[in-house]
Amino acid sequence: MFNLSQKTINNSINCNSVGLHSGSNINMRLCPAEINTGIVFRRTDLESGKNEIKADFKNVTTTNLGTSIANEFGASISTIEHLMAAIWGCGIDNLIIEVNNAEAPIMDGSSEPFVFLIECAGILQQNESRKVIEILEKIRVEDGDKFIEVNPSRDFSLDLNIDFNHPQIKINQLTFHSSSHSFKNDICRARTFCFKHEIDQMHKNGLAKGGSLDNSIVIDHDKILNDGPLRYKDEFIRHKTLDLIGDLFLAGNYIVGHFNAYKVGHTLNNKFLHHLFANPQKWRLV
Ligand SMILES: [Zn+2]
Repeated sequence: MFNLSQKTINNSINCNSVGLHSGSNINMRLCPAEINTGIVFRRTDLESGKNEIKADFKNVTTTNLGTSIANEFGASISTIEHLMAAIWGCGIDNLIIEVNNAEAPIMDGSSEPFVFLIECAGILQQNESRKVIEILEKIRVEDGDKFIEVNPSRDFSLDLNIDFNHPQIKINQLTFHSSSHSFKNDICRARTFCFKHEIDQMHKNGLAKGGSLDNSIVIDHDKILNDGPLRYKDEFIRHKTLDLIGDLFLAGNYIVGHFNAYKVGHTLNNKFLHHLFANPQKWRLV
């Protein structure tokens, strides 16, 4: 991650899919971007000049069942975390994401279709070096028994633990090290999941209207309702890792450090970034 040049994609590329929570049919186009652009969403259904939303932790508005961001004009985009994780996994720095709706498409509930799109578009090295956030001393946030901690390291790595205490979620620990694991092989195919008993409440709250067994794993008391096996035997914690990686990329730069986290969620992930940027003596941009 050190000493690399910035990257964007070679060509624009389109996809369309339903929105997990809105149920809308959504068109999305990934477009190349100039050096130092970062990741920017552009709502093509809204007025030009007020329709761009930078993928930045300070723009996060809600973290309930997904991460949403908005700009000062009220233009918003929700459920961005799986796409952000794919962009991170492909090593992209600069990208414009045109979307004709207030939600990113859910595809199959994982990051794999987005990785596929980026690879189809091709990755372009740009003539400017990448700046990364190097952690200089321990940073930790807590919320009850949940926590995220990061310590200095030469690479990106994480140890994640969850505690679902459910017979269908048997593996609650995962280690990911960027030198020996790859996002594409080890993380990107893990799908989002929910419990069957939560679905009625989500529908009452106007959420998950586009949810189906085509884009989510649904867990009942004693079985998984989807046909076919899990994609990984520990698919649930791999998806939690995917969510964490996607949310952390709202730092605006790649973070180099070793993370240790317990029972993470979108709210704690965002709280961590606020804490990181409130303590500039504990990291540097290099
Ligand atoms: Zn997710």
